[in-house]
Amino acid sequence: MTDFPMIINGLPVSAAAHFDVKNPATGETVGRAPNASRDHLDQAVAAAEAAFASWSQQPDAVRAQACLDIADKLGEQAEDLAQLLTREQGKPLNGLGSRFELGGARAWAAHTASLSLPVKVLQDNEQGRIELHRKPIGVVGSITPWNWPVMIAVWHILPAVRSGNTVVVKPSPFTPLSTIRLVELMNEVLPPGVVNVVCSDDQATNIGAAISAHPGIRKIVFTGSINTGKKVMATAAETVKRLTLELGGNDAAIVLPDVDPKAIAEGLFWGAFINNGQTCAAMKRLYVHESVYDGVCAALVDYAKAVPVGPGSDEASVLGPINNRMQFEKVQRLVDAAKSKGRVLLGGEPGEGLFFPPTLIADLSHDDPLVFEEQFGPALPIIKYSDVEDAIRQANDSPNGLGGSVWSQDIDKARQVASRLECGSVWINKHGAIQPNAPFGGVKSSGCGVEFGEEGLAEYTDIQVIFN
Ligand code: NAD
Repeated sequence: MTDFPMIINGLPVSAAAHFDVKNPATGETVGRAPNASRDHLDQAVAAAEAAFASWSQQPDAVRAQACLDIADKLGEQAEDLAQLLTREQGKPLNGLGSRFELGGARAWAAHTASLSLPVKVLQDNEQGRIELHRKPIGVVGSITPWNWPVMIAVWHILPAVRSGNTVVVKPSPFTPLSTIRLVELMNEVLPPGVVNVVCSDDQATNIGAAISAHPGIRKIVFTGSINTGKKVMATAAETVKRLTLELGGNDAAIVLPDVDPKAIAEGLFWGAFINNGQTCAAMKRLYVHESVYDGVCAALVDYAKAVPVGPGSDEASVLGPINNRMQFEKVQRLVDAAKSKGRVLLGGEPGEGLFFPPTLIADLSHDDPLVFEEQFGPALPIIKYSDVEDAIRQANDSPNGLGGSVWSQDIDKARQVASRLECGSVWINKHGAIQPNAPFGGVKSSGCGVEFGEEGLAEYTDIQVIFN
C-alpha cells in the first residue's frame, strides 16, 4: 500500500496518521493520504510566505514560462495521472473522463501562460499621471472538491502563481492522491514553497476550515458546496480574506417547441450526465414544451440506454460509479422520492456498489425535491410546460445561478430567452461548455467571483493606483 506524502517547501513530508482513499468501482484502497496536523498547515503557510518574497518579484516572462513548463509536464504525465484519477475518482479513462480531464488541465495551464494584466494608464496629462497596477496578494489557500479534482486544482493554482502568488492547496478527502502527484509535478518546475499541498480527512482534522481561518493566508479560492462555501465565507471574514467561491448549481435547460428531438438528444444527455451528473454546471432540470415533450423523452431514452456504464478502468466504459457513499445515498433518496410523483423512463434502481444507472424521470413538477435540490448525480427530472414564460419563471425560481441552456432552431428566440435566465453562463443548443478564455462563475448562491480569462486572473491580484 502506497502512503502519499504532503509536499511542503518542495519536499515530501509524511504525517503521523493517514487515511484510506477508496476506488469507488471496487471498494479497494488505492493509496493512503496524509492527515495533516495544524502544525503542518503552519509549515506550509510559512513556506509559501517565504517563497512569496521572491516569486512575486519574478519577471512576468518567468512566471509565464513556468505555466508552459507545467503544461508540458501535464502532457508527459497525462496517462499516469489519468490512471490514478480513475482509480480514486471512479470516472472512466475514456469519453469525458480522466484523459479528457487531463487534456483540459493541460490546455488551461498553457492558456494561463498567455494571460497578462499590464499596467493601465488611467490619466497622463498636465494634471498628472495615474497608473493602475495589479499586485499579487500573498499566500492563496485553494480548497477543491472531488468531482474534477485535477482540472479544478489547475484552475486554482495556475492563475495564482501566474500572477505572483504562492499557494497551499487542500484537496477533497475523496480524491487527494491525484492532487499530490500534480503538486509533485509542479514542484519539478517551480521554486520550493510556491505550491504546497496538505490533506485532511475532514474528521480527525479539518484543514479546509483551518485554511479559511489562517492569518497567513490572504485569499481563498474555494470550489465546493454552497453549505461549505458559506462556512468558508464566514470564517474568512475574520481576517478579511479575498474570496473566489465556485459553489453548487441547479442548472435548468429549456427546450423550445421548434426542436428536432432526435437531433438534440445526444447534447441533452451529455449536458446532464457528464461525469455522472457530478458536475457543478451539469443540466439538473429539463423543462420541455408540451408539443415536443413525448418526442424529447423518447429520444433521450433511446440515446441513454446505449451508453456503456462500468468500471472506469475498462476502456469500454463511458460512465463509471458515483464517487462516494454519501453522494450515492443523496441521489438514491431523491430518486426514490421522485419515483412516486413522476414516471420513470429509464434507470431508477441502484446497481452494485456505488453504481447507479442513468435515470430519467418524467412528469415531475417544479417543486419536487429532485427538481429543486442539487442532486449532483446521474438523474434528470423532466418537466412539461406549455407557456415559455412559466418555464423561464421556474428556471429562475432557484437560489442557484450557475448555468442554464436554451434549445431551439431559432437562434434569435433562444438568445432572447437566454438573456432572461439568472445565471453566470448560458448556452444555446449545448450545456456546460467552458473555455479558458471565457470567464466562468455563478450568480446568487452559486458563488462570487469568476475563474478563467483575464477577469479570472485579476481575482488573484490587489489593485494599487499610483498618482504622480
Ligand atoms: P464540499 O463542500 O463537501 O467540499 C469541498 C471542499 O471543502 C473539500 O476539499 C472539503 O474537504 C472542504 N471542506 C470541508 N469542510 C470544510 C470547512 N468547514 N471549511 C473549509 N473547507 C471545508 O463539496 P464536494 O462534495 O467536494 O463537491 C461537490 C460540490 O461542489 C457540489 O455542490 C458542486 O456543485 C460544487 N462544485 C462547484 C463548482 C463550480 O465551479 N461552481 C465546480 C465543481 C463542484
